[in-house]
Amino acid sequence: MIEKFGSENVDFVFMDTGFEHPDTYDFVKKVNAYFDLNLVCLRGDFSAPLGGGVGFKIVDINECKQDLVPFSEMMEKYGVPYIGGMFCTDRMKLQPFKKYCDDKYGRGNYETWLGIRVDEPKRLSNKQGIKYLADISDFDKQDILDYWKEMPFDLGIEEWLGNCVFCPKKSSLKLAAAQRDEPEIYLKWLESIHDDTVRVDNKTGHWSQMYRGKQSLESLIATFDGATGKEIKARLRGTKSTDAGSCSESCEVFSCGI
Ligand code: SF4
Repeated sequence: MIEKFGSENVDFVFMDTGFEHPDTYDFVKKVNAYFDLNLVCLRGDFSAPLGGGVGFKIVDINECKQDLVPFSEMMEKYGVPYIGGMFCTDRMKLQPFKKYCDDKYGRGNYETWLGIRVDEPKRLSNKQGIKYLADISDFDKQDILDYWKEMPFDLGIEEWLGNCVFCPKKSSLKLAAAQRDEPEIYLKWLESIHDDTVRVDNKTGHWSQMYRGKQSLESLIATFDGATGKEIKARLRGTKSTDAGSCSESCEVFSCGI
């Protein structure tokens, strides 16, 4: 982007859900420092009353961490996201991003570019005039992996831990693998979706039906009782699952079902 437009014409924006893997936060910080990106970090501001939308808070990059704060604040206002109602991307990423850009540049005065590779399905509708890195670069997944192998640092987490660690859109195998790798994050997440502050009424989802097949995360994980992490990961690798269309590949900020 810098090569194409010049650094003075490009801003890099990270929308933080507070639910990325800790290694992802480390990686974001290293990328920012290494490439001198001057990354703008946004978290949603959920203080407006219901119906008033979501604003944004600019936070220091060092405040971005896995504290679940944006997620919990969003769930207090809107309830839990669930399969068939994954509004979380809209509330924690899209709305804060758009408001930030409209405020900073003026509505219609900027272009939005997304890091979609050439080998990723172009599943985003282009109605909103979004541009893709794939339009100016023919890098595919292998090129990216090769590139990072040569770098002094890398993301270094398994694919099933990417994006929000227990995103309901991940496959059951990925969720089970994540639970085996990160039991503490799993418990922290369960605590937050069960918390009394989460909005629950006849207009919201419920933790007991958030995941595939309208089941709870606990019951989904229980279907893997008796299987070790190693066995689950072997099955996962055997399926060569990329979960196209799920957030484990990409959070699909501009198309997520809401
Ligand atoms: S990764 Fe999943 S849980 Fe996180 S914001 Fe995207 S859709 Fe929601």
